[in-house]
Amino acid sequence: MRILLAEDDELLGSGIRAGLGQNGFQVDWVRDGVAAERELATGAYQAAVLDLGLPRQDGMDVLRQMRARRNTTPVLVLTARDAVPARIAGLDAGADDYLIKPIDLHELAARLRALVRRAHGQSETRLAAGNVVLDPAAHQVLVDGQPVDLSNREYDLLHALLLNAGRVLSREQLEQRLYEWGSEINSNAVEVHIYHLRRKLGTPLIETVRGVGYRIARDAA
Ligand code: CA
Repeated sequence: MRILLAEDDELLGSGIRAGLGQNGFQVDWVRDGVAAERELATGAYQAAVLDLGLPRQDGMDVLRQMRARRNTTPVLVLTARDAVPARIAGLDAGADDYLIKPIDLHELAARLRALVRRAHGQSETRLAAGNVVLDPAAHQVLVDGQPVDLSNREYDLLHALLLNAGRVLSREQLEQRLYEWGSEINSNAVEVHIYHLRRKLGTPLIETVRGVGYRIARDAA
């Protein structure tokens, strides 16, 4: 899952990026509100972690602007311990959740998984289709109850398709979800991951919709 992190504190930001990375997230990190607003407008992120006290543009303004533009990306705001009014204002401005600094990285990862799940209208924590089950908390995929060894990209690809079961995702949309900044992407990267994914899963779960993209049928989910 690709996440935007907006945090101007270098120590905290690098800690969050590393911690979320270990939890299987791809993290792009910006350090001011103007950059945060610009990146959020791309729609490339499954969720955002937003510090409210940001230089150039306040986190609260970023939030208000994106919601005014009907950008529904789930947002978790980071606030100071004694900042109850800021938390309330953040939630009222369109934040979906908040965490108080100092934060626990495992809790942040779990809350982000929950936000993304809810944003896709999923109440179940585990995603299932046919004989395939994906467990985001364990970062694990099972086929007929047996764990399957997937690369991070393959896992992310399957996760994106399962979250959007019944909908076709284009190659561009999948690329956006898979790769953080600075990644070298081969033009056929998605096709290659799909090929390996199909082979490892051993089921015809992932359909190719010619000229459009890929899909997992809703009735399979
Ligand atoms: Ca700050």
